[in-house]
Amino acid sequence: MTYIKPSLKNLPGKLKIKKGDKVKVISGKSLDHVGVILTAIPKENKVIVEGANIIVKHTKDRQSRKPNTTGANSIIKGGRIEQEAPLHASKVMLICPACNRPTRVGYAYKEGTEKLSRRKYRVCKHSDCGKAID
Ligand SMILES: [Zn+2]
Repeated sequence: MTYIKPSLKNLPGKLKIKKGDKVKVISGKSLDHVGVILTAIPKENKVIVEGANIIVKHTKDRQSRKPNTTGANSIIKGGRIEQEAPLHASKVMLICPACNRPTRVGYAYKEGTEKLSRRKYRVCKHSDCGKAID
């Protein structure tokens, strides 16, 4: 048995982006799509971006298990369902609300008045911007 060293990069629960962030898709079939994160799934390192990575599900007509009042089995109509599939977090880039460009996310600390009350916040990595994102 081989021991596979967990990669720090792919460690779950370390998403730098969160629900409500505006992001740009940088890989895959929704390349260059810009949308807002509807759901963040830190456990899987994935996000669901509004309008990106749309999958179409086809459902067939099927019979309901419960007979209706007339005694005949009722039919549940099938159809097309379009929905966003989760994207890996590495496939999107946060768009900085200050400079409106896709950016990597850095962290900075705000010193509180008391010791140990430092608060981490996100910053834009563009050297000519550097604004706080949160
Ligand atoms: Zn910026």
